[in-house]
Amino acid sequence: MIRRLFQGIPGVAGTEPPAGSRVPSPSVPQSLQFVAGSDELHEECGVVAIHGHPDAARQAYLGLYALQHRGQESAGIATADGHHLANIKGMGLVSEIFTDDILAKLPGQMAIGHTRYSTTGDSALLNAQPIRVDSVKGLIAIAHNGNLVNLGNVRGRLERDGAYFQTTSDSEIIVQLIAHSRASTLVDAIADSLSQVEGAFSIVMMTRDRIFAARDPRGFRPLSMGRMANPDGPDAIVFASETCAFDLLRADYIRDVLAGELVMVTEDGVTSRQYATGVPQSSCIFEHVYFARPDSRIFGRWVQESRDRMGRRLARESAVPADLVVPVPDSGVTAAMGYAEEARLPFRMGLIRNHYVGRTFIEPEQRVRDFGVRLKLNPVRNLLEGKRVILIDDSIIRGTTCRKIVRMVRGAGASEVHLRISCPPTISPCFYGVDTPIKRDLIAANKSIEEIRQFIEADSLAYLSLEGLLEACQTEERTGYCTACYTGNYPTQWVDVEEILPAAAAF
Ligand code: SF4
Repeated sequence: MIRRLFQGIPGVAGTEPPAGSRVPSPSVPQSLQFVAGSDELHEECGVVAIHGHPDAARQAYLGLYALQHRGQESAGIATADGHHLANIKGMGLVSEIFTDDILAKLPGQMAIGHTRYSTTGDSALLNAQPIRVDSVKGLIAIAHNGNLVNLGNVRGRLERDGAYFQTTSDSEIIVQLIAHSRASTLVDAIADSLSQVEGAFSIVMMTRDRIFAARDPRGFRPLSMGRMANPDGPDAIVFASETCAFDLLRADYIRDVLAGELVMVTEDGVTSRQYATGVPQSSCIFEHVYFARPDSRIFGRWVQESRDRMGRRLARESAVPADLVVPVPDSGVTAAMGYAEEARLPFRMGLIRNHYVGRTFIEPEQRVRDFGVRLKLNPVRNLLEGKRVILIDDSIIRGTTCRKIVRMVRGAGASEVHLRISCPPTISPCFYGVDTPIKRDLIAANKSIEEIRQFIEADSLAYLSLEGLLEACQTEERTGYCTACYTGNYPTQWVDVEEILPAAAAF
C-alpha cells in the first residue's frame, strides 16, 4: 500500500493528504531505467520552441539535436502556419526520426519540439510529445520537461468533470486543465491551469498562431529565451531547455524564463506575466552536477564554471597524496580538471569512453549489464600502471558501477585508487523528473561512507560537502536550489512515502 504525506512545509509534516489523492511513482519499465548496467541517472526531457522562422521545423530539429542528452527514448516536433497544426513524433533518437522527407511534412513559421526520457506515463509512442489536444479552447500542442506531483489529485477531479484523457502522461493534465478552465481568454486559462498543478514543469505550448513558454513557480527545470536572425523579416524568438541549443541555432541568449512566469509570443511581439509569486525558488542543483551540458548556462550560471568549482572545492576538502587525477567520462571531466588544478596534480584521461555504445545494449539481464560497463569504458594502461590515482565521478547511486570502475582502474595497474565524488551522498529519491531509484536501493541511504568505500573497494572515498556544492553553484542573484536528493528535505508538499522508506523497513 502506498501512503502519502505532506512533507517539507513547516507545520504540516505528517498531515494526511485529501482522500483519493496520489502522486506519481516512476513507471518506466525497469529494463529502461539503467542503460548498459550503469548507475546512470536519466533526465526526463528537453524542450524547444521557435516563433517566426520560415523553416521552423528544421530549427526545432537542430535545437532537439543539441538537447539529445536530456532524453533518448522518443522525440517529436509540432509546427503551425497560422491555420493548421501538424505533429510528428517517433521512438528513438532525433536524427533517426527526422529525415529531410519527414521535416518537409512540417510546414509553418512556428514549432515546438520535445525529446523524452519518460518518468511518468509509460514509454509508448502514445506518450511521446508534443501532445496535441483538440479542445473547446482550440488546438493546443504541449511539450513538457519535469514531473507533476499532485497529478492524481488533479486528474481525478478532471475526470469527474468529464475530461477524457488520450494519454497517461502528466503533461496532458495541463492541457485538460486549460480546456476545462472557466477563464475567458486562452492566456488566462493557461495561467489558471498552471497555478493548479504542483511540481516541476518547464513547458512550451503552441496554438495555430501563438507560442507560450512557462516555468513552474519554484523553477525546478531550466528554460531560456533567445533571439535568432530570420532571413524573411523580424528576428525569430526561440526557447530551449539549455542554452547549448542556441549555439547550434546561432541564436543569442536573451534571458531565462523566470520561475512562475508565462511568456506569450505572437506576431505582435513578446508579452509576459507572473502567474505565481512568493514561492521560494528551488532549481534542481543536480542539473549543475550532472544533467546539463557544461557548455550551457542555466539558472544564471555556466555549468562548466560550477563543475570546475565543485572540483576545486573537493580538492580542498579531501586532499590525498596521489600521482594523477582521472575523470570518469564524460560528466566527471570538468570537475576533475578543477580538482587537478587546485591539487597541482596532472590531469589524465585514464579512462576512455566508447561513444558508439547505443541502445542496442539496453537490457534488463544482469549478465548483459555487467558487460555494458566494459563496453562503455576502457582503461589506458600506460597512464595508470604503478600510479596512485584520484578518480573523479559525479555520483554513486547503487554503487555497483563504481565498484566495477574502481576494479577496472586497479586491474590496469594503479597502485592506489582514491574515489572523489563531486556532490554529497545521494540519500533520497527525486520526484521532480529524475529517475533516481527508491531509497532502499540508494547505497548512501543505507551504508556509511566507510561501508561504501569497502563495497566499491577504493583505498579512500570522499564526497563534496553540501556547503561546498551550494557555494560552487551560487550566483550573484543568490539562486535558491533544491537539494532534496542529498538532504531528504523536499520543497513541495507531496512525496511518495513508500519510495523514501529506509532499507530496514522494506523487509
Ligand atoms: S531531488 Fe535532486 S534531482 Fe530532484 S530536483 Fe531536487 S536536486 Fe534535482
